[in-house]
Amino acid sequence: MPKILVIEDDPLILTSLSKLLISEGYQVYTADNGIKGIKAAMENQPDLVICDVMMPELDGYGVLKELRKHRPTANVPFIFLSALVSRNDLRRGMNLGADDYLLKPYTRKEVLDAVNTRLSKQANITQHYVMELKEAEERLNSLLFYDNVTRLPNRALLSQRFSWINEVAGANASITLLSISIDRLNRINESLGFILGDNLLRVIGSRLQRLITDHDTVARIQAGQFAILLPYGDKDQATKLARTILGKLAEPVTLDGHELVITCSIGIAFSPKDGTDLDTLLKNADVALNYVQERGGDFFHFYSAGMSHKFMEQVTLQANLRQALQRDEFRVFYQPQINLRSGQVVGVEALIRWEHPERGLILPGEFIPLAEETNLIGPMSEWVLATACAHVRAWQEGGFAGLRVGVNLSGRQLTEENLKEKVIRILEDTGLPPGNLELELTESILLRDMGAAISTLSELKSLGIHIAIDDFGTGYSSLSQLRHLPFDTLKVDRSFVKNVTEKSETAAITAAIIQMAHSLNLVVIAEGVETIDELNFLRRNNCDEIQGFIVGHPVPHNELFEFLVNYKTEFFTRHISNN
Ligand code: C2E
Ligand code: MG
Ligand code: MG
Repeated sequence: MPKILVIEDDPLILTSLSKLLISEGYQVYTADNGIKGIKAAMENQPDLVICDVMMPELDGYGVLKELRKHRPTANVPFIFLSALVSRNDLRRGMNLGADDYLLKPYTRKEVLDAVNTRLSKQANITQHYVMELKEAEERLNSLLFYDNVTRLPNRALLSQRFSWINEVAGANASITLLSISIDRLNRINESLGFILGDNLLRVIGSRLQRLITDHDTVARIQAGQFAILLPYGDKDQATKLARTILGKLAEPVTLDGHELVITCSIGIAFSPKDGTDLDTLLKNADVALNYVQERGGDFFHFYSAGMSHKFMEQVTLQANLRQALQRDEFRVFYQPQINLRSGQVVGVEALIRWEHPERGLILPGEFIPLAEETNLIGPMSEWVLATACAHVRAWQEGGFAGLRVGVNLSGRQLTEENLKEKVIRILEDTGLPPGNLELELTESILLRDMGAAISTLSELKSLGIHIAIDDFGTGYSSLSQLRHLPFDTLKVDRSFVKNVTEKSETAAITAAIIQMAHSLNLVVIAEGVETIDELNFLRRNNCDEIQGFIVGHPVPHNELFEFLVNYKTEFFTRHISNN
């Protein structure tokens, strides 16, 4: 019911006008002078004001002027009521923002026509404003609460939904959170471009959306990461959903003529058990997600407190690792390599160690993956190469001329632009002949980017540097696949060596690998030789060199020098022939 304020000092007119309006269904407020009128307008926020022009103290113009100054009444339709109006009075009122004039004496029809016209005009304006406001609000909402690539809810809306569930179901409601990350999305973006990458995300988003009900929320919370919120906490249901997601997302996607097959990793956490606020819950789901990713992805796992501990340990270690190089905490250990025919020490492999101030010596298996996640692997590897070349050059000068050093390269280094220049500079600085340096790369690194591997390794090889394939046999590659690569040496992984005496099948494979490698003119080094039986097997099968605890453990550089000085070829050969 619209509210009308009538301001009039003549009591008869005030009463009759009020009655007229009330009889038409309006809610009427009255004031018998201008000051009271302003007060009533502020308090009651009428939809329309009818006001006498001539009043003592404050006249109608004064009232209008005042009302237009204040926001709540600035746009209220205003009709003047006047006995006589000169052209000047009319203009003055209109200039102040009056909407209409009613002349006394007025007829019932005149009053109602004027009131209706003004009110419906105002309603139109208001409706227009309301719509515009609503549209603006929707635009703002979509910016604030939706991801602009997939149009899915974003993290802010996810957080709101989480609070709603807790509001509706009571604090500590059962909630499941799945954190889903697309494996290797960066590589897709790098090779196919971001536009295709975005299209892929949209496809993934809509596939996920089709797997959930109206009560669930799927959100995109980071570049390649989605989250699903379920308003219940049921492990079986979560398992079922996770399996469905893994299957659904693995279906090929055809975009722009490319057929893509993606996999994802899923971490799952439950509220309240694993966190009562969304941030904690997400953090823990991500810990579980990380756990899956570290194991190659394409699976799901539930969060457990033990994981978090391990995760925190890794985070701390990674933070320490950043300072390890400046604090001079890295060490290079060396493990000797023996030629099986001559029994001589022909080379050493450089193996990095981290002398952690609190934890003692840490093996590379624990910190190299952490260094690879950051940019640290570059400077660290460069340091190893420079240190190893310098040490070996010193031993050469100390009487062990021709000694070779094997240095491990990480995948990141292979794709580094100026790897060749760095290696050349180090060789020049240390004076180590290129023919005495052997760079070791694992099969998996080589297979990851064959093109880059072939061109970089060819360049290095043209300098006279040797290239070795490390851990051969663990990367599921075949020698025919690797034939195109310019390498000189094949290092047979310890997993073969350790079984040659027990499993006839492994013995046959190892013998075949050695034979094939020789037919490709490769030198074969067996890794991880621990027993005399293993050693004899390798000798019988013409393996060229061995490396392993039976000869010596990896040791610091001063100990390795002692080893070189004290090493007796005769002792070694006698040792073999006696067995
Ligand atoms: P890898 O290059 O295959 O090195 C051989 C590993 O086998 C070494 O482990 C060595 O200590 C171990 N080993 C040697 N002989 C025996 C044996 O008789 N029995 C057994 N059970 N193990 C033996 P380590 O030093 O822990 O290094 C592990 C891996 O870390 C290396 O495998 C290499 O891939 C990587 N790595 C080591 N140093 C560096 C480095 O400076 N840069 C890079 N990028 N990776 C490195
Ligand atoms: Mg190696
Ligand atoms: Mg190896």
